[in-house]
Amino acid sequence: MDTRELYQQVILDHNLSPKNFKRIEEPTRTAVGHNPLCGDEVTVSLIVENGVIEDVGFQGGGCAISQASASMMTASVKGKTVSEARALFEKFHAMVAEDGESEAMGRLAAFSGVREFPARVKCASLSWHTLKAALDERAEMVVTEE
Ligand code: ZN
Repeated sequence: MDTRELYQQVILDHNLSPKNFKRIEEPTRTAVGHNPLCGDEVTVSLIVENGVIEDVGFQGGGCAISQASASMMTASVKGKTVSEARALFEKFHAMVAEDGESEAMGRLAAFSGVREFPARVKCASLSWHTLKAALDERAEMVVTEE
């Protein structure tokens, strides 16, 4: 399956049945992200215990790419340590915004194609930036830059 097919399948799957689209009661970390260019909004909440992401959920609304990406992001970091999740953020960001590797990214490689579309990069990376803000315990809302 090439990246384009994988992309279409992933977007479809995750919009039909998003993973971890839920409210987390009493999260230990939470952050809100907004992409004004497209109108995407996402709230990411986590339960971090002993440096491990025990649970993660997202809520919000927006385009199919932002929703699928948030769904995949939560599925990718759940059960990982905070430092593993940070490393995955760096890799994902490098893959979509720069010329980073998409090999060894598993199904996340589906998003590698968005790097050709700068506006879509913001949709795909919003939930990841919001995750990072939550891990950094930054209180202000994440807004993708123009
Ligand atoms: Zn969007």
